[in-house]
Amino acid sequence: MTDTNLLRIVDHPLIQHKLTLLRKRETPTAEFRRLLREISLLMGYEVTRDLPLTTRPVVTPVASMEAPFLAGKKLCLVSIMRAGSGILDGMLDLLPAARVGHIGIYRDPGTLVPVEYYHKLPADIAEREAIVVDPMIATGHSAVAAVQRLKDSEPLSIKFVTLLAARDGIATFHEAHPDVPVYAAAVDERLDENHYIVPGMGDAGDRLFGTR
Ligand code: URA
Repeated sequence: MTDTNLLRIVDHPLIQHKLTLLRKRETPTAEFRRLLREISLLMGYEVTRDLPLTTRPVVTPVASMEAPFLAGKKLCLVSIMRAGSGILDGMLDLLPAARVGHIGIYRDPGTLVPVEYYHKLPADIAEREAIVVDPMIATGHSAVAAVQRLKDSEPLSIKFVTLLAARDGIATFHEAHPDVPVYAAAVDERLDENHYIVPGMGDAGDRLFGTR
């Protein structure tokens, strides 16, 4: 993993290989969905690397031992709709007991201002560590708005998992939220005039749900 405190590029070869397959224009919906789920599981492995462990006595067929267990930290995955659900599925494979919140945000096509249309978080979010998931950080405006809404509910901590980010989008995000580390599989250089990441992978939601 290439690491700064705020931006962690998960450069594992399996993730990079699968990301290339995701980027390809001809990758069909079913394959896109499967790859996104697999990458998300692998990203989940990195984002949970610092979960604290405790020990408990267990008896193996051979002997007793003090064995490591997760210390029972409470997690909440927060999916930014709609493409976030592609990452959510893979992360839930790894963290089946995590609670899940949803924040629905769309970008007004005229003003490009993010508009919230859905918001549902677990009642005990203030006792949980939040992991926000969205496959793309393009301008960064939706990510900034979603994390701001989440912060209103005061979770214990926030991390952000994405697949692809644009360099300027990351800068915008960290200007607003310098306390939230972003885990990304890659950072691309620029956005086009329609605010798509270049070279990117196209519209992640459309490719995940086959809506175009
Ligand atoms: N959202 C996407 O799905 N793709 C982009 O390139 C930018 C934003």
